[in-house]
Amino acid sequence: MDIAKLFETGKPRFSLEIFPPKTHQGGIETIYETLDGLKDVRPAFISCTYGAGGNRADSSTIEICSIIQERYNIPAISHLTCVNNSKEDIDIILEQLKAKGIYNILALRGDPKPDAPAKEDFAYASDLISYIKQRESEFVISAACYPEGHPSSDDIVSDVINLKKKVDCGAEHLISQLFFDNEDFYRFRERCAIAGIDVPIEAGIMPVTSKQSIMRMVSMCGASIPAKLAKILNRFENDPTALEEACIVYAIDQMVDLITNDVDGIHLYTMNKPYLAKRIFAVIDKMRS
Ligand code: FAD
Repeated sequence: MDIAKLFETGKPRFSLEIFPPKTHQGGIETIYETLDGLKDVRPAFISCTYGAGGNRADSSTIEICSIIQERYNIPAISHLTCVNNSKEDIDIILEQLKAKGIYNILALRGDPKPDAPAKEDFAYASDLISYIKQRESEFVISAACYPEGHPSSDDIVSDVINLKKKVDCGAEHLISQLFFDNEDFYRFRERCAIAGIDVPIEAGIMPVTSKQSIMRMVSMCGASIPAKLAKILNRFENDPTALEEACIVYAIDQMVDLITNDVDGIHLYTMNKPYLAKRIFAVIDKMRS
């Protein structure tokens, strides 16, 4: 299944992101529990992260994408970072993906890790995209985008110009970083249109489950917390159930607004918690078509 083609109908698509479970949390076996729950929300596809959170060079990403496709019959996108991979490493990974019938890749630079010096073959995600497309044209490439700008970019305009390079190199679909103020996304969408970026852009939505974890996350990815969400986090920081309830409603509110503003798609960061995705999709189910 060519992921980019899913968007040709013009209807909004709803997709999910998961990550490979850590070994101390039960390892890959626990992914079945996660996917058993997530399949009920009928996602257009599920993507699986690669090497994020210090979990470098994790071959379980490919295994999990294969499970998503073979056992659950749901299209999968395999994330792939290049900062710690040489061309030879990428060649091996592409062969592994092909062997498993996985042809959708979210091509990323990744973040350099202090304990592992970056390899030199790829400076940016656009280099990885060009390399994959020249080597194996049958791969369908997605790329990341940043409604509030990438934290290391000089300014928001050069970030969009760099995003256009990824599209020019062969990215056919974009998934956004999480954001909490839809106006940031709409402004970004306008900048993309002005820059001539005409591929589908999915909006990344993360339901918050704890103040501590979201503050850690935004300190890394540079997303801002609007006053309305900050009030929720402060009001309920010592009541996890109330906080989760309020933040599910917040995420649903964002999604309804995005749908009514003709978003191409919504990519839900599930954090491997199917009950969150189920609760959200139970509310917006009728708005899918
Ligand atoms: P790039 O597109 O290469 O951009 C990185 C920076 O370089 C930006 O500031 C950009 O403006 C600048 N830049 C790009 N091209 C040029 C150029 N030609 N000249 C000058 N500057 C340039 N990380 C993981 O480790 N694993 C994952 O699975 C993962 N999944 C993600 C999924 C999504 C949807 C998103 C939004 C992020 C994900 N990340 C993941 C995080 C990502 O790896 C980091 O944000 C990383 O810092 C940038 O990756 P990128 O592919 O966007 O980089």
